[in-house]
Amino acid sequence: MAAIPIILQVVIAFFGAYMIALWFSMIVWTYYDIRARSQDLYVHIFATALVVVFNVFGLVLYLILRPRETLAEAYERSLEEETLLQEIEERPNCPSCRQRIQADFVLCPYCHTELKQRCPRCERLLLPKWDICPYCGNTQVPNARRIEPHLPRTSLAPAPATTTTTTTVIPARQ
Ligand SMILES: [Zn+2]
Ligand SMILES: [Zn+2]
Repeated sequence: MAAIPIILQVVIAFFGAYMIALWFSMIVWTYYDIRARSQDLYVHIFATALVVVFNVFGLVLYLILRPRETLAEAYERSLEEETLLQEIEERPNCPSCRQRIQADFVLCPYCHTELKQRCPRCERLLLPKWDICPYCGNTQVPNARRIEPHLPRTSLAPAPATTTTTTTVIPARQ
């Protein structure tokens, strides 16, 4: 039996040690990676065992199967979505033309619909359908006015035979 040259033995030893270190690193990396992506203990065990048993091939399988987002990314995304949703909800629309308006607009700048009225006593803004002022208790607020969408100023021609003007009432939402 021919003795293996010493140099070859050293090379094999180094290569083997490197492979073991690589395998171990992959196991550790997978463990930390899956912990960042899932809270399920069984998923942690399964993912780590995949690399322990199948080595590089297990790692490839893990990379295919692992959750796309880390928990931190998913949390950040849900926060972002929530903020966006809140912004959309908070920004009011004109009840007549649905354009975005500011909460303290008195008139819609796009369709000239009256959005708010002023309390005659304290001058604060009230919804047109309120008949008392919640700020100063004034009960002499011109009651529940119906909102007429004003026609754009460019339409100077007389409106074609409409005897009843269309009226819009601001929805109860505020
Ligand atoms: Zn409008
Ligand atoms: Zn008032």
